[in-house]
Amino acid sequence: MKNWLWLFLFLLLFEKQCFGYELILPKNKKAEVSSNYIFFVGKATNSESIYINNQKIYTAPNGAFAHSVRLRDGENRILVRSNYKTQIYNFHKKKLIPKQKEQIKEFSPVTAIVQKDRIPLRSTPEEQGSNIISGLYKDTNLLINGSQENFYRVLLSQDKEAWIAKDDVVINCNENSVPANFINTDNQRFKNATIQTISFSKNLPYTVEERNDEIIFKVYNPELSYDSVYTLNIPAPAKYTYSVSLKDGTYTFKVSELPKTLQECIIVIDAGHGGTEKGAVGCLGDNEKDINLKIALELQEQLKQMGATVIMTRECDGYVNLKNRINIGKNNNADIFISIHLNSIGDSPINLRKNRGTSIYYYNLAAKTLAESLEHSITQKAGTTKNGIHQKGFAVIRPTEYIGILVEAAYMTNPLDSTLYQTKDFAHNVAQGIADGIVEFINK
Ligand SMILES: [Zn+2]
Repeated sequence: MKNWLWLFLFLLLFEKQCFGYELILPKNKKAEVSSNYIFFVGKATNSESIYINNQKIYTAPNGAFAHSVRLRDGENRILVRSNYKTQIYNFHKKKLIPKQKEQIKEFSPVTAIVQKDRIPLRSTPEEQGSNIISGLYKDTNLLINGSQENFYRVLLSQDKEAWIAKDDVVINCNENSVPANFINTDNQRFKNATIQTISFSKNLPYTVEERNDEIIFKVYNPELSYDSVYTLNIPAPAKYTYSVSLKDGTYTFKVSELPKTLQECIIVIDAGHGGTEKGAVGCLGDNEKDINLKIALELQEQLKQMGATVIMTRECDGYVNLKNRINIGKNNNADIFISIHLNSIGDSPINLRKNRGTSIYYYNLAAKTLAESLEHSITQKAGTTKNGIHQKGFAVIRPTEYIGILVEAAYMTNPLDSTLYQTKDFAHNVAQGIADGIVEFINK
């Protein structure tokens, strides 16, 4: 055959392989995994149809596609093809052996002392965001009577127990320890706040329960008897934040009413991820951190123009850890903290209709009304679908010192959402939706 014919054939083949679809995920063609699903996320070109294991998959008008394949234990061979390109992926799924939980070891009650401030007291013996029921202070006296794995069981009252990490306490060997006594309680009222103090002879564990119109503050006194609980029912304004501190046995519980105008409000805007932490990756290869920042900067502009005091956790593409983000909120006396993200899928099958649109997360009951306002206003302004408001213990929205909300504006991995968040006005529209929602909440 003539040389030019070879060249022609080679170019034809080369063109087909180069101009076909692009896969953003998975990153490798061969891997050992432990997840149940593997995600194929990418972009088709030249209106090609994409087939994964011979199943034609949906591509959005901009070419974006996302598809999940369930993995079997052992070898999985997955074929991705179009008219232009064929690729083979091989995944070895490791068989997961479910870990058996150790039995609870029972023992006679002993006292233990908390070693640092803000130690999580949990409802279950696991490290999670959503099982934290209190943040205990250094030198708090606890009564423990059991253990499981890395946790001790704490006796709060006859019908209430909790768990604390073994590393956070030391057992008190002084058997003659004196029981803690109640000393007094005091209540001070200010223009926009009430301060309640309650004093004991020792630091004791506490919990706070939010109700619609009151906050129930309980101090447990297990050393005296595990049936003695001091309960304070503190009336709550319609919109409030609160803080608890403990020094030498005295709890100071402050409930603050939220400002009544936007001009008096301090709002912290938290653009999720940044720097080396890219966040989720979209069908077209875009990074969540960049879109988060765009929305955050737009929101900063809009809220400033409306007269609010705005503080940013980041204004450029840099890494900020979670603790610093929270401290920026607390140290600046933020009234409202808005964390901005775009969603992705965990280890579950992709459902293009379900994993789509705007989801709003809150943790403390006091933030629920704002979550409701935001869902309505963001979906209306940005044209996204409603994906619900959810209560979840993300670290940045757990503090009670501010009204914390985490917005997942859209799904990075949903092809239809990608046609929205790719548009020029998306960041502006989401920001406008957030600003409108905040104003509606304040005026309610
Ligand atoms: Zn994120």
